[in-house]
Amino acid sequence: MTLDRIAKWNQNGNVQCGFCKDGKESHEHLFFECKFTQQIWSNLRTVSWRLGDENSIQELLQVISSFKGQNNIGNVVNKLLFAAAVYYVWQERNNRIFQRKERTEEAVCNLIKKNVRVKLLSIRIRNTKNVIRIGEMWRMKWANYSFVAV
Ligand SMILES: [Zn+2]
Repeated sequence: MTLDRIAKWNQNGNVQCGFCKDGKESHEHLFFECKFTQQIWSNLRTVSWRLGDENSIQELLQVISSFKGQNNIGNVVNKLLFAAAVYYVWQERNNRIFQRKERTEEAVCNLIKKNVRVKLLSIRIRNTKNVIRIGEMWRMKWANYSFVAV
C-alpha cells in the first residue's frame, strides 16, 4: 500500500525535500541521494548482506536481487531492510510535512532495524554458516529452527 501511494505521488520533483531543504524531492533524492537518507543507508549497510557502495536506488535493487537464487538468509535480510527503509523514510517524510514532527536519522534507523529484527525472530530457518553470520550481526543466535535474541 505504501509503495502504491509512493508510485502515484507526483514525480516532477518540484517540491523541496523536507529532510535537507536544499534538494528537489524526487524518488531518487528522497530514498537515496538525500544526505538524510544516505546516513540511513550507510548505517543499514552494516547489518545488511554484502551491500556496499551502490550509487543509486536502481543499483541497490540490482545488487539485492543478484543474491536471489542463493536461498540465502542474507537475501531475506536485505529485502526486509529495503522494504522497512522505504516504509519508514516515507513515514518520516509525511510526519514532517503533515505533523511537523521530526526524528533523527538514528531514530529512523532504529525503527527500521527493530522492524526487521522482529521479522527475523519470527521466521523458521535451518542452521547454516550464513545464518550464524547474520545472527552475529543482529545479536541473535540460532536455536530450534529459529533465531532467538541474545
Ligand atoms: Zn533531501
